[in-house]
Amino acid sequence: MNLLNKFKDPELCLNILDQIKSEIQGEFRFMEVCGTHTVAIFQSGIRTLLPESIIHVSGPGCPVCVTHDREIASYLALAEKDLILATFGDLIKVPGPGGKNLKAAQAEGARIKIVYSAFDALKLALDHPQDKVVFLGVGFETTAPTVAATIKMAAEQGVRNFSVLSFHKLVPPALKALAADRDIQVDGLLLPGHVSTIIGLEPYRFLAEEYQVPSVIGGFEPLDILQAILIMIKQKNKGRPEVVNNYKRVVPDQGNAKAIETMYEVFRPADALWRGLGIIPGSGLAVAQRYEQFDAALVFDQELPQVDEIPGCKCGEVLKGLISPDQCPLFSTRCTPANPVGPCMVSTEGSCAAYHKYRL
Ligand code: SF4
Repeated sequence: MNLLNKFKDPELCLNILDQIKSEIQGEFRFMEVCGTHTVAIFQSGIRTLLPESIIHVSGPGCPVCVTHDREIASYLALAEKDLILATFGDLIKVPGPGGKNLKAAQAEGARIKIVYSAFDALKLALDHPQDKVVFLGVGFETTAPTVAATIKMAAEQGVRNFSVLSFHKLVPPALKALAADRDIQVDGLLLPGHVSTIIGLEPYRFLAEEYQVPSVIGGFEPLDILQAILIMIKQKNKGRPEVVNNYKRVVPDQGNAKAIETMYEVFRPADALWRGLGIIPGSGLAVAQRYEQFDAALVFDQELPQVDEIPGCKCGEVLKGLISPDQCPLFSTRCTPANPVGPCMVSTEGSCAAYHKYRL
């Protein structure tokens, strides 16, 4: 039997579900931080099986969704320069000021290439020595170490036509901002499995100790998710919040020391602008001085332009768990995956896209 099948076993899942039903007391509101969890919860049908008193809200765990309008505007401004932009596919569709996105810029002649990794972007630079290649660095602790390793490789090889515009973001400072926000009431946090493989358990400790929020690092199979919900409910009932690693088969408690070391050799913590959450101190990664020749923000003197917000888009409220996607007036009318108004409808991990796909 495939090991993962055990985590899909209907009998085991129903057993946990029964325990959840017997433990639940009143309303329980939990936030799944990670977009992959949002999709997994819909795909597995868990949402429809849980008692109605369990309310799940999505959080700021989709890297494309939290990329701010001003950051998209910065990409669009770079695209007008004489260079090649290398980017992940999702990002190209995110609307910026006036609804324009990188796809439109590409149609107007900007040289934009879809890549699957930062290494692909470096290869592009090596294959086009006459051109400057800029990789658009987005994502959390999961992707930042690979981008850092790519910059290190470029430095070792003496590559001069490659740089990264780093808008990477760190998850724990965003969770701190959410936990400190009195408008955002959650009884538990389902912590992201992928980010946790890098950072481990320790950086989340403050959630239980300072903010008394039960928090569980969970996997993405139905049993993982149900177990995590049960653990959070039990903690709440006992009034003893903790941070639990319930994904030990993938996430070491201490994280990945080598990845973290590489990440902080190449990047330094910086304030970052999050869609919906605003500027969060120390929640971003800028290229460290030692590698500044690979910092596209410096190389191209690139600042964040001031822009008007997209009219009517409620992505900010969705990312903070203040409203569900279907409470946005544009949901599935003016805003659909084919014609997205905001990034939460663009990304495959976006909660609006997940609601649209699985709830209609
Ligand atoms: S439905 Fe569209 S416009 Fe509304 S919050 Fe989601 S992405 Fe933004």
